[in-house]
Amino acid sequence: MKRFQNTVTLVTGGNRGIGRAIALRLASEGGKIILFGRKEEDNKAVENEILHTFGTEVQSCAVDVSSESSVKKGVEEALSRFGRVDVLINNAGICRLSTPFEKIRREDWDETLSVNLYGMIYVTRLLIPELRKKGGKIINIASLAGEVGGIATSADYVASKAALQGITRSLARELGPYHINVNAIAPGFVRTQMTEKMSINLSSIPLRQVAEPEDIAAAAAFLASDDARLITGTTLDVNGGLYMN
Ligand code: NDP
Repeated sequence: MKRFQNTVTLVTGGNRGIGRAIALRLASEGGKIILFGRKEEDNKAVENEILHTFGTEVQSCAVDVSSESSVKKGVEEALSRFGRVDVLINNAGICRLSTPFEKIRREDWDETLSVNLYGMIYVTRLLIPELRKKGGKIINIASLAGEVGGIATSADYVASKAALQGITRSLARELGPYHINVNAIAPGFVRTQMTEKMSINLSSIPLRQVAEPEDIAAAAAFLASDDARLITGTTLDVNGGLYMN
């Protein structure tokens, strides 16, 4: 079934890990894909992978989401190629491993918030006028850390992810009348470059498994589909039972 046949999806941080898996999953169901990421070589690798595996339309843009001007250029490029965006996945993120609170410097806070929070703000506010025209979906990749505090991560990361959940609810109220669903996904531990250096205690996870990026992609595909048409303002936990809401 090609659920995303006539759908254009923009995935930030789409060149590896969770973002790549989401882009591949939606492309496998016929979706057209725009990828944002800083490293052009990695962007091109995923662009080629999608093109050769699924043959759907795809374009990558070298965008640093923490820079408003870079985001503006990327969004303009994407809209001039595809004419619209139906689904926005705010996934780009960076993470600091556990650090004592008093050791997190002002520049550390700025760095994390500028990617994880302002990145989402810059992309989303440029695309809202587009999404309002026909409706659509916004999916924010939050984190278990934003719900329970950092298990392996520091407070600047936790704050950025908790903020995404609050904004998700706020935007869901504001944009609901325009048929825009706004939801978040809160992954627990996922096997990506981000978690390579974390030590994960499997016995603390009821299902005794670390997620694969494809597990998060499956949740994103559901929220991006018509099956989720009446779901908005929610956070879908994908964490093996580590936190039960
Ligand atoms: P990775 O480190 O594997 O990938 C991060 C992605 O974000 C890359 O594509 C990277 O591309 C991109 N990115 C980073 N900074 C920027 C920037 N300034 N501008 C544009 N793109 C950027 O991480 P994951 O795939 O694991 O994480 C994806 C999201 O999921 C993040 O928001 C993370 O916080 C969240 N998450 C992850 C969990 C996990 O266990 N892995 C758990 C909970 C949440 P490039 O470097 O080329 O810019």
